[in-house]
Amino acid sequence: SRKSRGRLMDIHREATAFFHELLMKNAAAGHARDYLKSRGFGREMADRWALGWMPDNPRMFLDWARARKFSGRELVDSGIVKLKEDNNPKSGLFVRFQDRLMFPIRNEIGDVIAFTARQLRENKNSGKYINSPETAIYKKSRVFFALDRAKKSILNEKAALLCEGQLDAICCHESGITQAIATSGTACTADHARILKRYTSNVLLCFDADRAGLEAVEKAYRQLAPEGLGVRVVEMPAGDDPDSYLKSQGADAFRQLLANAKEFFDFKLERGKATGRFDSAAERAVALGECVEMLALMSDFAARENQINIVATHLQTSSVVLRDEIAKAKANPK
Ligand code: ATP
Ligand code: MN
Ligand code: MN
Ligand code: MN
Repeated sequence: SRKSRGRLMDIHREATAFFHELLMKNAAAGHARDYLKSRGFGREMADRWALGWMPDNPRMFLDWARARKFSGRELVDSGIVKLKEDNNPKSGLFVRFQDRLMFPIRNEIGDVIAFTARQLRENKNSGKYINSPETAIYKKSRVFFALDRAKKSILNEKAALLCEGQLDAICCHESGITQAIATSGTACTADHARILKRYTSNVLLCFDADRAGLEAVEKAYRQLAPEGLGVRVVEMPAGDDPDSYLKSQGADAFRQLLANAKEFFDFKLERGKATGRFDSAAERAVALGECVEMLALMSDFAARENQINIVATHLQTSSVVLRDEIAKAKANPK
């Protein structure tokens, strides 16, 4: 209901302020402040993003919530807390995050609707990041981290810069690259694509330069192309992500990478060539089949014509052949 959604928004807003106050001032949060410093961020950054600290001791949060008159049921509905046994309200409350750096996740108009939380000490028994579960106010397939701050720049720059991690998006903003957003580790969905399409027709993918990031590029293309979004790929040295690259090379060098972003098919086929995957005619035929299927996903006619020429050049075929194969693929989708 509208009322219970309002309560969930209240919990998130008030908890954000509570966690932030703890991070900035609490004697027990020194290691969290040190962690931020070790990542090259100062207090101003923590203020701007309302970062917070969730204590190790769950009582601190639960006592605060009780004093604020939030019920156990409301806390569970917010996702910050879960029941020790699912569906057993008598089993007791368990705070989902412990001794973590809390990043508020906001909707498009800037209200906090969820958290993602980073562990501060290496602990193999739990994930590096833990996110809020889906709730009445948080549908992860529809939320971009930092879109509330980036939307104006996305309109002005006529492109969105999509990163994997929230710290990547934050570091971009802190470096003046304010069209950056992130999916927070979840895959880019068709809903994400439709939301972006309201702001721009161009997406620059700036995923981690590792195997997972490379795979995510192809997956993101498959969601974005059908919505008519043009996809370009920012290339970084192997092992880097936007945050690490900005820290080591600076904003000017990073802007140069953005300026050199490759059209998706240039990126895909240059990589294929570099890794020796198109050495034989048989291999080129396989690549051609894959490109045809992916070109057929593009809904924007003019943009597709452009990409057809790119693919034809790389795979030593003609655009006439490609158009023909695309028509067949569209008549006969997989
Ligand atoms: P950091 O720089 O703090 O190590 P990152 O953003 O570089 O973080 P990656 O390991 O590259 O982290 O993962 C990319 C994103 O995937 C993260 O920002 C986070 O949103 C998500 N993620 C990473 N590890 C986990 C995990 N164990 N559980 C859930 N989500 C995760
Ligand atoms: Mn990664
Ligand atoms: Mn990363
Ligand atoms: Mn990182």
